[in-house]
Amino acid sequence: MFITLSNNRAFRGAASTGCMLSLVGPILLAAVVCPRSRAQYRVFWGDVHGHTIHSDGKGSLDDYFTFARDVAKLDFVIVTDHDFGNAAPWRMPQATWKLTQCKADAYTSEKRFVAIAGYEWTSQPKYWTGVADDTTSERLFSGAPKFYNHKNVYFGENVDYLFSAKDPNFMSPDLLAAAVLLHGGLIQNNHPTAGPEGSNQWDYNPAYYAVITNTEIDADVLRYAGKTYEIGVERTVRGFLDRGGKTGFVKGTDTHDGKPAARTAVLAKQLTRDAVFDALRNRRNYAVSNARIWLSFKIDGHEMGEVMETAGNPTIDVDIRGTDKIEEVVVIRNGAALHSLNPRTERVKFTYVDRSFHSDSYYYLRVTQVDNDEHGNPSRAWSSPIWATRTASAPRP
Ligand SMILES: [Zn+2]
Ligand SMILES: [Zn+2]
Repeated sequence: MFITLSNNRAFRGAASTGCMLSLVGPILLAAVVCPRSRAQYRVFWGDVHGHTIHSDGKGSLDDYFTFARDVAKLDFVIVTDHDFGNAAPWRMPQATWKLTQCKADAYTSEKRFVAIAGYEWTSQPKYWTGVADDTTSERLFSGAPKFYNHKNVYFGENVDYLFSAKDPNFMSPDLLAAAVLLHGGLIQNNHPTAGPEGSNQWDYNPAYYAVITNTEIDADVLRYAGKTYEIGVERTVRGFLDRGGKTGFVKGTDTHDGKPAARTAVLAKQLTRDAVFDALRNRRNYAVSNARIWLSFKIDGHEMGEVMETAGNPTIDVDIRGTDKIEEVVVIRNGAALHSLNPRTERVKFTYVDRSFHSDSYYYLRVTQVDNDEHGNPSRAWSSPIWATRTASAPRP
């Protein structure tokens, strides 16, 4: 049987990853040998969180997508207006959701720019009857208030219905996740907080780690307009990981001024909506706070976001290309610094073997540059974690 170039996807895939093919006589064998055929991923930059005039932001959807593509020079962007809209009855009208999806399709030009329709599932304690006496309470649900915080929801294909936090059928993370999973979408935890207003933000079934795949990460200390705030975001997210939670890291501007910017990098083979979703679904993404720091973080050849097994000592490969000198690089394992260095160079490349690995562990990388944003915060980058489990040492037959 002949295998032709035009109708064999396996061949095309193999060819693009530089694998070797065997040609025997007239027959092109499909015996493709791909030792560690890890895909040649590229980094694409985007913003996963922003608002327009359709909730409490400025500017139209056209303004948002045009700014992302032409001014911020992003590869992809997600628009995420609040699900409650900006006018009575405080619920995003069906027509707005439809328009958001139509505009995202219209602005998507695969290989050049990907626009994605999403919304912010905006749970608020005032939706419960048990909230402290508050004249603005909407009292939609009975009982003590829940502090689920906000979550962005986005879909690769058009979905008719918007699963709102004000709808009793979708008012909890579990109910939301079940519906979004059925429709092929993804969810991220937004702006996690160390305070009581986030006390229920991680309340969802581990079965839904497959759909609530990422969390917006940030520093523990933030400077803003001359003041310093202890926001404890990285610590809070790490607490979730320490309890066995699984999440990758993204970041968004949460712009309300129509100015999305590069905050999330996805590792994808090409710039298509499917490829961006595939990266976000597999947590093959990392977050930056300001500058576009390029980084690669692998363990035994596994990309960030993966769960891997090893029988030996995990070998961690780090490659960073900063936009300025790098002040600090830290490999974090199970909530504590495992290895750190202060290179003061723009390029940092090293391999570290974790000889103290003895039980299931998560690892991630945090990079801090010497440059500051206008408030005095250094540019940072956080890789999504890699989870390493020890291979069961059962004797082989
Ligand atoms: Zn929010
Ligand atoms: Zn928001």
